[in-house]
Amino acid sequence: MIERHLFDAEHEGFRDTVRRFIEEHVTPHHADWEKAGQVPRSLWRKAGELGLLCCNVPQEHGGVGGDFLHSAILIEEMARAGATGPTFYLHSDIVAPYLVDFGTPEQKAQWLPRMASGEVVVALGMSEPSGGSDVQSIRTQALRDGDEYVINGQKVFITNGHSADLLLLACKTDPSQGARGVSLILVETDRPGFTRGRKLEKIGCKAQDTSELFFSDLRVPVGNLLGQEGGGFKILMTQLAQERLVQAIRAVSAAEAALEWTRSYVAERKMFGQTLADFQNTRFTLANLHAQVLAQRVFVDRCMALHVKGLLDAVDAAACKLVTTDLQFKVMDECLQLFGGWGYMWEYPIARAFADARMCRIGGGTAEVMKQIIANAILPKTRKP
Ligand SMILES: Cc1cc2nc3c(=O)[nH]c(=O)nc-3n(C[C@H](O)[C@H](O)[C@H](O)COP(=O)(O)OP(=O)(O)OC[C@H]3O[C@@H](n4cnc5c(N)ncnc54)[C@H](O)[C@@H]3O)c2cc1C
Repeated sequence: MIERHLFDAEHEGFRDTVRRFIEEHVTPHHADWEKAGQVPRSLWRKAGELGLLCCNVPQEHGGVGGDFLHSAILIEEMARAGATGPTFYLHSDIVAPYLVDFGTPEQKAQWLPRMASGEVVVALGMSEPSGGSDVQSIRTQALRDGDEYVINGQKVFITNGHSADLLLLACKTDPSQGARGVSLILVETDRPGFTRGRKLEKIGCKAQDTSELFFSDLRVPVGNLLGQEGGGFKILMTQLAQERLVQAIRAVSAAEAALEWTRSYVAERKMFGQTLADFQNTRFTLANLHAQVLAQRVFVDRCMALHVKGLLDAVDAAACKLVTTDLQFKVMDECLQLFGGWGYMWEYPIARAFADARMCRIGGGTAEVMKQIIANAILPKTRKP
């Protein structure tokens, strides 16, 4: 294996803490959480106690004060363990950065320390039944009425939607505009006018709660606006590189883990007087996947190194998400095949990983949207007919 040079001794100590946390508090319970369709709040608090939430949020805002590599370690280890239920990456590395970069001092003081302790769980509400890729066309409205916004509309597919205390909600504050009409608003879920719909039944990531959310004349003070009114779309653009890198880290780490499980399995499984690992088909399949995952590990590590220096651009991050999530699914499919019928049984981690991986080419921006971003960067833009 190509040695990794990203992490120092302190990071590796943090990795040990993360592994112990997963072994003790996550893996033994994950199957129960899949049945419940969500993880308990006590897990968030435990993670908070151990300094695993908001790793990358500065200490002056109540965070752990680490760097993005601490976040990356947690994301890697959770992905390796197939632990898709606890969505710490969404809370700490997708929503928290918006507050850190664009929150007022009051908003930061109100939310970040409680997010770091696990007292408050957050969700990001962008997608709507009418569309998720085309954020400019969202229909949920937040119209100004004196010192308040009145919110009406509906969101769908919202991760943590059932358990969240706080939503970062994309709304139209000016419905006559496209991107320039979009604003981001912090919405506490105990406000009148908010209701949660059903927990959606998914084909994978079953321990993750994914919900519909409804807003009916819900009022928030104008102080809940994040950044400028009409500036939401621009704010969302600023975090794209990190959001896509997070998905790429998850994808390559999950693929590495699946290869490890499969190598062990084929070495043990006996048939026709030899092991499954003795067949040339098995050897070539795993050699091929190993080579591709290795190449992507190097790509992802390079993107991480650039991101720590603030140099990763959104197009390279889109490319990284595109290729890693495509390969993740291919790895899960081909590894599952080597497990035979056992691979199709839910009790086998490869079965879960296969179902979980299907989501990664959709969530966090679809593969087609990634291709569109890359194509726009490398080709002249297509003219609309
Ligand atoms: C498990 C899960 C969790 C999720 N969590 C969240 C969350 O926490 N918050 C949130 O806001 N959303 C969340 N989503 C929603 C997710 O972001 C959307 O599903 C995704 O953005 C796609 O939107 P859509 O489903 O409406 O599909 P659509 O946007 O309707 O897309 C349908 C098809 O059209 C393709 N398409 C779109 N644009 C183009 C284009 N320009 N060129 C060519 N083809 C195109 C898409 O790639 C796709 O194949 C989650 C989704 C899932 C499945």
